[in-house]
Amino acid sequence: MRTTTIYILVFLITLPFQRALANLKPVDSKRFVVVIDAGHGGKDPGKNARGAILEKDIALKIALLIGEELQKQKDIEIVYTRKTDVFVELDERGAIANRAEADLFISVHCNAHNSQASGAETYVLGLHRNKTNFEVAKAENEVIYLEDNYEEKYAQYNLNSPESLIGLTLMQEEFLDQSIQLASYVQDNFRQKLHRKDRSVKQAGFVVLHQTVMPSILIETGFITNTEEGRYLNSSKGQRDIAHAVAQAVVKYKENVTTNDFLGVKKVVPAVEVNDVVVKDAIFKVQIAASSRSLETKPYNFKGLRGIQRSKEGKLYKYYYGDTSNYTEIERMLREAKAKGYTTAYIVAFKNGIKQNANDFINKS
Ligand SMILES: [Zn+2]
Repeated sequence: MRTTTIYILVFLITLPFQRALANLKPVDSKRFVVVIDAGHGGKDPGKNARGAILEKDIALKIALLIGEELQKQKDIEIVYTRKTDVFVELDERGAIANRAEADLFISVHCNAHNSQASGAETYVLGLHRNKTNFEVAKAENEVIYLEDNYEEKYAQYNLNSPESLIGLTLMQEEFLDQSIQLASYVQDNFRQKLHRKDRSVKQAGFVVLHQTVMPSILIETGFITNTEEGRYLNSSKGQRDIAHAVAQAVVKYKENVTTNDFLGVKKVVPAVEVNDVVVKDAIFKVQIAASSRSLETKPYNFKGLRGIQRSKEGKLYKYYYGDTSNYTEIERMLREAKAKGYTTAYIVAFKNGIKQNANDFINKS
């Protein structure tokens, strides 16, 4: 064969691998989707104060204002579960967020009580730590009784039992840290910027939070039954203030998860140690998964691993962790991936864009 023919053949053979490498996506996708869920609506008014102030109306106004403000950020996309006074079933709210492959789910509500209780609190899904939290979740969950077929649809839940969601918290477990982080930012803003009573970040078994597969919070923006707070929640200034505080919390959260390692810890680029094995013309990665599904390469989709790269190879998407010429470093990353549960993960090598057996580069003695 002539040299040019060989070159062409090599080119054709390696084409799929070159394409595979070209398809590797950057660490974080630009699209950041926030689903804003105005609680209740339509035939479900939610709580009320003297029949005059309805939770569904205040929740909707605040939800729309949060979206309006966040939409000004060019890389944030807003999806609403409702934009008007309509009834949306509880499981559909979560389904909307899951279909949108959202990065955040924020449910907006108001509290009510027969005392003059006041203040704002933000919930993440978890065990009811005390009776009060349980009562709040129970009241919000009771919406399902207005839905058709609720016995079948929500058969897994027993809304009257504080323990009923214990076995069901798993779905949100991996998002818990992120949910708490966002919830804390919301409460911080309420307290620091609006000088409102901070009833803190809490956990309880909200059905609507259990249905989503992304960091999710439920904000009880205040008590419509408190004379003063009810007036504030019902005023356009109050609604604007609250929406602004929530929107700013989302912006802060987003900056945190997209530019830093989670929880604000700067990513540490490891120094090359003297004894490290470095192969100059090779790039090592840990292949952690192969799937027909195209997943966003976000940490919460990969058990908290950051910098995941996705590559379409044939019919499958391959997911890689790490990108380094330092073999010692990639071995450390392999151990990390395995510890996170990717027990079948292994190291692959790329040379000039061509995927190879990593062992070919390393002489193991
Ligand atoms: Zn509510």
